[in-house]
Amino acid sequence: MWGEQKRGIHVSQAELLCKDGCGYYGNPAWQGYCSKCWRERIRKTETNKPENGLQGDGGFQLTFSKFEEKKNVEKGRRSSTMKRLFWGTPSPPRQETSEGQEAALKAFQSLEPGDFPGFLKLLRKPISQRLHSRCTAFLNTIEAYHDLPVEKQSDLVQDFYQNIAVHFNGLPEAQLSQMMEHIEKLIMTRLHKVVFCHDSCDDEQKDLILQRRIKSLNWVTPQMLRVPFPKGGIDSDPYLPAITAIIEMDAKRAPQDKLTCVSKCSQNVFQALALTNSQPANADDFLSGLIYVVLRANPPRLHSNMNYITRFGLPHSLMAGETGYYFTNLSCTVAFIEKLDGPALNLTPEEFNSYMNGHRAPPRPLESEGQRKARENQEQMEDLQKRQENVNQGVQAFQEQLEQWVRSVQEKMDEIAAQSQLLENRLSLEKSAAIARDQSVLVLRDNASNETDPGETEC
Ligand SMILES: [Zn+2]
Repeated sequence: MWGEQKRGIHVSQAELLCKDGCGYYGNPAWQGYCSKCWRERIRKTETNKPENGLQGDGGFQLTFSKFEEKKNVEKGRRSSTMKRLFWGTPSPPRQETSEGQEAALKAFQSLEPGDFPGFLKLLRKPISQRLHSRCTAFLNTIEAYHDLPVEKQSDLVQDFYQNIAVHFNGLPEAQLSQMMEHIEKLIMTRLHKVVFCHDSCDDEQKDLILQRRIKSLNWVTPQMLRVPFPKGGIDSDPYLPAITAIIEMDAKRAPQDKLTCVSKCSQNVFQALALTNSQPANADDFLSGLIYVVLRANPPRLHSNMNYITRFGLPHSLMAGETGYYFTNLSCTVAFIEKLDGPALNLTPEEFNSYMNGHRAPPRPLESEGQRKARENQEQMEDLQKRQENVNQGVQAFQEQLEQWVRSVQEKMDEIAAQSQLLENRLSLEKSAAIARDQSVLVLRDNASNETDPGETEC
């Protein structure tokens, strides 16, 4: 039946890309532009203003944007190199490197990919002193200015990434990107508590609105979303690992660790699709699967987490590659959920509204064998509990009846005893009366015989 209906959820790949046509992924947080084009637009509008808003904030503009002033604005064609993301120019500015710096670079180069503890160890060594003190100074500054608007904090962090990337000038691209990931983790693990869900933005309200919206859509089934779903026989929901991964995102502190959760969730969606679908999954299957997962998971503080990633994450992880694709799809998912209507779910507007108003009972979701058994066990338990309650109530009622019966028997017996006492009293009274009567009769008879005798003797 569902196979004949047309798909309500669809997104073209062009819709996922930056509005400027640079080839990177766009994002609703940047009004459809990629991070780079968006920041360039913001900068342009700010420099066109007669008064520069950033100037009033303790000279941050001067401190953190001096490298920005040097760089040329690159437009148009897509650039695949990491260095362009950090510098915005085809070749990074050359810096004179001392012997010490070269030794430090070599040490950093020897690190295994993803070895963050090793990076921290190296950072504490004298050869990395310059880098270490820059990071510490930056952290202290942001913590001191914790009440700056979150967008300004975001600008400062992004500028810091660009400036610090110069420090690793000379490393191959892959290693530069790894070093930057370590720097991001170092900075954001400490700044998370200062900038996440910041007072200056309405992230918290948006989280609540989205959470309520997802709750109100709890009746949406995989079939309505056209998500390939097993008809039974599989012990658990194949999307469960994806649901768990997206819920875990809130507990992570570094933007890249949150992004890893998004990637893990997305990869699990693809795996679930492969498990349930005979055909290879397409982009629309993936988006529908992701919508289903987010509806089921209702992830905590989803808006806040996504804004945190776009504001404080490394731009290259969002603009290109697998993580960029997954994150852009997650943004589309949220946008879809916010405007989800009848036609998107193959329902008439009337049907959609009656589900939303609770006039129509939510259809029982498709459940796996394990879920069915668990539900049946639960139902049996509830049934047993109800029966036990009934038995208890019956026993209590019986006891009450018994007590009442005993009481009434006792009363009856008392009554009978009282009556028999009365009867006994009456009988004994009557007996005494009868004796008395008999005695008086005898006396009368004696008297009568005495009176006749003299007459006979006279004759
Ligand atoms: Zn762009």
